[in-house]
Amino acid sequence: MSETQQETLSFQTEVKQLLHLMIHSLYSNKEIFLRELISNASDACDKLRFKALKDDALLAEDGDLAIRVEFDKEANTVTITDNGIGMNRDDVISNLGTIAKSGTAEFLQSLTGDERKDSQLIGQFGVGFYSSFIVAKAVDVYTRKAGEAVDQGIHWHSAGDGEFSLADIERPQRGTTIVLHLKPEEKEFADGWKLRSLIRKYSDHIALPVQMVKESYDAEEGEDKAEVKAPEWETVNSAKALWTRPKSEISDEEYQELYRHISHDFGDALSWSHNKVEGKLDYTSLLYVPKKAPYDMWNRDRVRGLKLYVQRVFIMDDVEQFLPLYLRFTKGIVDSNDLPLNVSREILQSSDAIDSMRSALTKRVLDMLSKLAKKSPEDYQAFWDEFGQVLKEGPAEDPTNNEKVAKLLRFATTHTDEPAQNQSLADYVGRMKEGQDKIYYVAADSHATAKNSPHLEVFRKKGIEVLLMSDRIDEWLMGYLSEFDGKSFVDVARGGLDLSGVETEEEKEAQKQANDDHKDLLERLKTLMADEVEDVRMTHRLVDSPACIVVGENDMGAQMRRIMEAAGQKVPDSKPIFELNPEHPLVHRLEQEQSEERFSDLASILLEQARLAEGSHPKDAASYVSRLNRLLLDLAR
Ligand code: ADP
Repeated sequence: MSETQQETLSFQTEVKQLLHLMIHSLYSNKEIFLRELISNASDACDKLRFKALKDDALLAEDGDLAIRVEFDKEANTVTITDNGIGMNRDDVISNLGTIAKSGTAEFLQSLTGDERKDSQLIGQFGVGFYSSFIVAKAVDVYTRKAGEAVDQGIHWHSAGDGEFSLADIERPQRGTTIVLHLKPEEKEFADGWKLRSLIRKYSDHIALPVQMVKESYDAEEGEDKAEVKAPEWETVNSAKALWTRPKSEISDEEYQELYRHISHDFGDALSWSHNKVEGKLDYTSLLYVPKKAPYDMWNRDRVRGLKLYVQRVFIMDDVEQFLPLYLRFTKGIVDSNDLPLNVSREILQSSDAIDSMRSALTKRVLDMLSKLAKKSPEDYQAFWDEFGQVLKEGPAEDPTNNEKVAKLLRFATTHTDEPAQNQSLADYVGRMKEGQDKIYYVAADSHATAKNSPHLEVFRKKGIEVLLMSDRIDEWLMGYLSEFDGKSFVDVARGGLDLSGVETEEEKEAQKQANDDHKDLLERLKTLMADEVEDVRMTHRLVDSPACIVVGENDMGAQMRRIMEAAGQKVPDSKPIFELNPEHPLVHRLEQEQSEERFSDLASILLEQARLAEGSHPKDAASYVSRLNRLLLDLAR
């Protein structure tokens, strides 16, 4: 190979950081380099086969796609070759010199230096090709893109230390050869038995043949005997698309390996669902729920979706049309027998077949989750902790499956002391008081604020459970959940508190009476606070607190208001209702106050405290402080 135009380039900073971290934290899992390289080789062959659907000349010179693994004990190298799509100079620079993923900087910042945690994070991020440097002190890549001239080959070389060199080469065959120059201490990988067992372990599910040269063993020494004559290649893996095999013949480990291949996740899948559909539509789906959320779960632009195959031929990645956005954590493949091989993204967007596949696949994922919740509550809880917030987008996005999604939701409640979201709505309903016909909830911006909300006082007194919500999305979610199991949801901080069924006639009467008895006080307050509140009234929802504020039935709740304001959005003006506890000594004190100034101080302090208790700031903090200090000074006198 004649090399010309040698050029040395520097890795992107992120790559340097990643390489450094990876070599140190993935050390205990180093054998995965082979899986990563075979996975890339397989993708490269898939891409070529897809391109060749339109241009069959691309495959003409060499139609049998395969991946070959070789080793050389003396040179201490392992070599992986594919006859897939290959790369040209620009491809090499961007693919093997940078990390193109969005969110890379954030990912790198999230690393802690703690080896175990970091290796987990790196796993979620995916390292691919760069994992070569866990075992190799230097790597050569020889590649030529399918369809380009023989002299358009490229040789990439790097010792993983910050830079790489590029040179033009002649390369008769298309595709990519990667030569790993193993570190001396990694020589165990330059071994036929070792490599075969790794291929079977990690790459059995790869649909292409992964081949090695047939070896003959010396019976006494057990050593390899070099086969000098024309090498005879044998296929080491099963080389059959895993999802085409009957479920009963596939082991969990095989499912997990396919998951790792398609998800670029190092970890395990939590659960999967493998189905063959025949009839009007004919397709196979294999859907996975990951154990861990990818590092960029919250990045709206991140690629997502399922892989599409048509009759076993890979067509495209990231087909978003198969699942709604709130199930975007799902990974998997769909292999259709109906779609045309030349199907395009445009066709996918307006196809009846895709629509019905989408609703069937959506149901599959939801069913898989509810099965998991039933069979293994602990695993389901792990799922919820990772992806619960995403699933909460469901009721808004997918009204047809509202009920199914509602069953999958988990909440923190006053029933337990822990902040964990681990109670289902069915759990709640099972514990409802006799006569109770509503599901009560409170939404605040932290669990502590929700738990200590004055609005809960009457519920605690009566022993009625309340759902405690503190995710940003919760109030919005509740806007799309109107009832569960025939019971409607009631925000305890909103409107006239509906305690129907759990309130006695006497209690109702007492509340009315209190409003009559304290008419003068209420009028005085209404006049004083006309600009700030919609109404002032006596309430039975408080036990220990003197006052609280309540949102109008159709007004925006406090949590949502804060989110919108923080996002710089205009929020419609609405005044809350100020409610007082007729039993509270401070309210009695207020009622008896003759001095207008003192009355105004005390009333205003009660209102600001009510705002504080629900997690808001006082409207006018400086005046709140000076009023409070005036009262404190009175005390000191
Ligand atoms: P990932 O596979 O997650 O995209 P990698 O770092 O493993 O990340 O690879 C980066 C890119 O390099 C791939 O997306 C692919 O475009 C290209 N690449 C890697 N290996 C090969 C190969 N054997 N043949 C062709 N392209 C490859």
